[in-house]
Amino acid sequence: MSGESVLVTGGAGFIGANLCRRLCEDPDIAEVRVLDDLSSGSLSNLDGLPVRVHRGSILDTDALDAATAGCSHIVHLAAVPSVPRSIVDPVRSHEANATGTLRVLEAARRHGGLHVSLASSSSVYGSNPAIPKSEDLQARPMSPYAVSKLAAEQYAVAYAECYQLPVLPFRFFNVFGPLQAAGHAYAAVVPAFVSAALAGKPLQVFGDGHQTRDFTFVGTVVEVLRAAVVGSVTAGPTNLAFGTRTSLLTVIELLEAELGRKLTVDHLEPRVGDVRDSQASSSQVQSLFPDVDAVPLKDGLHQTVEWFRTL
Ligand code: NAD
Repeated sequence: MSGESVLVTGGAGFIGANLCRRLCEDPDIAEVRVLDDLSSGSLSNLDGLPVRVHRGSILDTDALDAATAGCSHIVHLAAVPSVPRSIVDPVRSHEANATGTLRVLEAARRHGGLHVSLASSSSVYGSNPAIPKSEDLQARPMSPYAVSKLAAEQYAVAYAECYQLPVLPFRFFNVFGPLQAAGHAYAAVVPAFVSAALAGKPLQVFGDGHQTRDFTFVGTVVEVLRAAVVGSVTAGPTNLAFGTRTSLLTVIELLEAELGRKLTVDHLEPRVGDVRDSQASSSQVQSLFPDVDAVPLKDGLHQTVEWFRTL
């Protein structure tokens, strides 16, 4: 395959910019474009990369058409990506995440039936207590964000059914790694911990710290996304995580080992909308992408700390 042209929505964000870097290195990819409104992403994440950036919103049909024309694939990552943010402003989350995805799918249909990979979230499992989370479990979203992501992925499924659009919705779990912003109120847990640890500040833990997550290094996520593009892989909703279940207290221990010192921890009240335990069933992603090896948590944390030291 050669000459593929890929549009990454949300490409100036954390996962998007890591993906753009990986796609630009791939000889099978001729062109990488980004559509981003820079609401949480930053152009500096794309410094030095040969990408064509369209600054605009996925909610704007003209901007979407301009960015999509001539593309063969869309990797749709643009979203308002946070549970607490959706509790503060559920309508904004819905518009960006659900309506925005619908508009991206429409653009893919208008431009000749493009292959679309997109980001859903493990939060769709919500209060369903089953562990590990296999894709056929009943979704029980607990936040407006989770509902918006469930709507997004199910729109993709419906477009595959009704219009034979080639789609692959991924349920990301807790992705972490270089380029993930820490300095804002809705920061994810790993960048918040690493940045506090390097600044000599206490690490803030909501609740007792025994809650578990399936942390996935961004390098692993972009390898899967790249393989999905190159192979035009289609499937139903697919967990993009590898079945590790790690408590926040264990992450802190790993960071202490990485930094060679004890860290101070402040425990705060648990947050509304947060799930207690999260662990993916990874059999589906492993059978679709048998050549992708997940980067171990310890190695991913090392790379993340190294990146934070450069800031
Ligand atoms: P991010 O905030 O770094 O990236 C999102 C990007 O989308 C930003 O660059 C932002 O400016 C852009 N954006 C937002 N609204 C837009 C709009 N209307 N039009 C165009 N661009 C818009 O977040 P991220 O962590 O890189 O997340 C990427 C995707 O993965 C999101 O869909 C998110 O919901 C999903 N996801 C992430 C995680 C995680 O652990 N990081 C977990 C589950 C799902």
